[in-house]
Amino acid sequence: MGERQELFVRHKTVSVRCGSVAIGGGAPVSIQTMAKTDTRDVEATVTQVREAVNAGADIVRLAVPDAEAAEAFREIRKRVRCPLVADIHFDYSLAISCLESGADKVRVNPGTIGGLERLLRVAEKAMERGAAIRIGVNSGSVEEDILEKHGGPTPLAMVESARRSLDVLQAQGISGIVVSLKSSSVRDTIRSYALMARESTWPLHVGVTEAGPGLSGVVKSAAGISTLLAMGIGDTIRVSLTGSPVEEVSAGREILQAMEVRRFGPEIISCPTCGRTEVDLVSIAREVARRLEEYDVPIKVAVMGCPVNGPGEAREADVGVACGRDGGILFARGQVLGSVPQDQIVDALLRLVAAEAEKRRRE
Ligand code: SF4
Repeated sequence: MGERQELFVRHKTVSVRCGSVAIGGGAPVSIQTMAKTDTRDVEATVTQVREAVNAGADIVRLAVPDAEAAEAFREIRKRVRCPLVADIHFDYSLAISCLESGADKVRVNPGTIGGLERLLRVAEKAMERGAAIRIGVNSGSVEEDILEKHGGPTPLAMVESARRSLDVLQAQGISGIVVSLKSSSVRDTIRSYALMARESTWPLHVGVTEAGPGLSGVVKSAAGISTLLAMGIGDTIRVSLTGSPVEEVSAGREILQAMEVRRFGPEIISCPTCGRTEVDLVSIAREVARRLEEYDVPIKVAVMGCPVNGPGEAREADVGVACGRDGGILFARGQVLGSVPQDQIVDALLRLVAAEAEKRRRE
């Protein structure tokens, strides 16, 4: 680090295919999640993969801990269409088996796959099948000798672990590689990816591992992923939460949308309220947010709490309202459209949203 970093200029990476999704090479930053079901339970896993895809997942990963899970992977592959990744530790033959069953990518951890020779066998099989391979370094399982050299799983140690694998794969002409360097420390995660981006053009899968449950997990992931995105780093992301895949995907979408890296649907801008607020803005904003869920058009909707500072923000949005004691002043594309009584604010605003959505469809 230490060098001047130009913000939001995307680090150049090569394009790697993961089924129907391109990772890197300027493709939209994709969202991944991982099924939490026992992969051997085909029904439950298929249901969860579909839920994740409906929530917006581009790629879904499944843990494959044993031969039975590898067998189930084959069945699941037949029943879902999204790109599927097999996550393998310890037994490289499971990775080979999943690739033969149609895995679009395998994730292997160089610290647990049983040596470079086995890693190479998996990579060769992936290449033969037109699938990708992720070298997924994890701070909890860096190789012993590297840990000793660096005194622990430091960012330099994680990058060295990845480099050791990459050197072998590249020497054999392997392509279709994606790299991740995840740590449960946000700082170490950022440092590791920043170091890696300096020396590699393989696409980077970014995320903070074991981020935790609920709010703290979302905040840790958002802090790490957003910082990297601002540095132009990250071709595919995964928010790891002690929660459902749908929560992970929703958080991933919010991060990408907040960083203006991708737009998925309406964005609501509402003020934090203060002593000037003379309406129940929290209820109004919640109701607007709920009713916006049916739209998939990227419209900016401002819900502001007073006629003093509200109009500025409302004017900047595609549609907006500045609420006051006497009602709400409505805006669309920067123009004042008039005002409505308090109890009609939500309906009036949503009518403007519908009109704007319609205009977008026609434009
Ligand atoms: Fe307060 Fe008005 Fe700002 Fe909302 S927009 S925080 S009500 S000053």
